[in-house]
Amino acid sequence: MNSRNDLMERLSDWLAETKAQGLYRELKYLEAPQTARTLLQGREILLLASNSYLGLADEPLLKEAAHQAIRQYGVGAGGSRLTTGSYRVHQLLEQQLAEFKLTEAALLFNTGYMANLGTIAALTDRDWVIFCDRLNHASIIDGCRLSGAKLVIYKHCDLRDLEKKLQRYQGTARLLVTDGVFSMDGDLAPLDQLVSLAKKHQVLTMVDDAHATGVLGAHGGGTVEYFGLQDQVEIQMGTLSKALASEGGYVAGKQVLIDYLRHRAKSFVYSTALAPATVVVASRALELVRERPELRSELLEKAAWLRQSLRELGFQVNQAPTPIIPLLLGDASLAVRFSERLLEEGIYVPAIRPPTVPSGTSRLRFSLMATHTFAELELVLMKMKLIGRELGVI
Ligand SMILES: *Cc1c(COP(=O)(O)O)cnc(C)c1O
Repeated sequence: MNSRNDLMERLSDWLAETKAQGLYRELKYLEAPQTARTLLQGREILLLASNSYLGLADEPLLKEAAHQAIRQYGVGAGGSRLTTGSYRVHQLLEQQLAEFKLTEAALLFNTGYMANLGTIAALTDRDWVIFCDRLNHASIIDGCRLSGAKLVIYKHCDLRDLEKKLQRYQGTARLLVTDGVFSMDGDLAPLDQLVSLAKKHQVLTMVDDAHATGVLGAHGGGTVEYFGLQDQVEIQMGTLSKALASEGGYVAGKQVLIDYLRHRAKSFVYSTALAPATVVVASRALELVRERPELRSELLEKAAWLRQSLRELGFQVNQAPTPIIPLLLGDASLAVRFSERLLEEGIYVPAIRPPTVPSGTSRLRFSLMATHTFAELELVLMKMKLIGRELGVI
């Protein structure tokens, strides 16, 4: 058997099949900062696809902070945090994150993905049962798999299904993990109810607040703050790559948790530290979250308006207080066609297809930034109406 030829043949069969199903993926290249209007492959477009919710990707104060950090520390970190990669700026950001999340301590990871993977795998093993919302982020699911724990999936935000499953697995170590805001649906986990259920059943809780950090809660602290559950969620995880316009992930919680993860989370131990400039940008962005609460309120006001307006046009859009607006189309090819037509009209809204979302739930996913203007959103609505009719969706 010739594995080399065999494998290549199988890959190309798989790709052909994927193409036939309308699921083939290609990259689109940006050529300017992620502002509301940007350059995509040589064309100026209106961008409704960025997770830079507060519109900070091109913020002069952040760019200046990065320049200053590069002048002071150079570019790469040169080693993992435990060898030569730790700078004071890493420590400072961890302290800031702990204060922001009202926890004792925090630990930086290189991405949110690595934070989930490393944390779940370090804390649990095959003696554990982990309860996961069906729509949790892929990095949570991968973390569960890596840990060897038994993975129990409950129906999306379904407390009854969860409780039934909690009752089925008693007398063992248990962890409940949920996204705070679900990335492809933009809806909120019923965190208050999940936490009371977890308490009742003595289950450890972990929240992935990638999309809510800097966005929800009176101080932008995320879903835990939004629901007033400080001190009640043992493991708070998030990313620096979305509203905070930088990159990296973090876990916040008790000092003992963080000390343990520093030793045992392999994605922390065996990976080169974030570059100092990246860390400084996230630090400064966290200050901006505090200094400019109006960014949050404007963002959420615009998101609510766009949601409502799309519904009034007859599109299928859920209700949620977040800047992620999924517009359900069902069929993958239709979603791609709709997205392509929008792009022809100068608007970029990505089509989201399986395996990112369950089969039959392909959609357009709008993500808003605080810096979109109402005039730009009016234009989006006009084009949505035009194309929605053209493609027979409304
Ligand atoms: C984006 C995201 C992550 C991963 O964060 P990165 O820093 O981009 O790796 C994890 N969880 C959720 C819910 C996300 O949306």
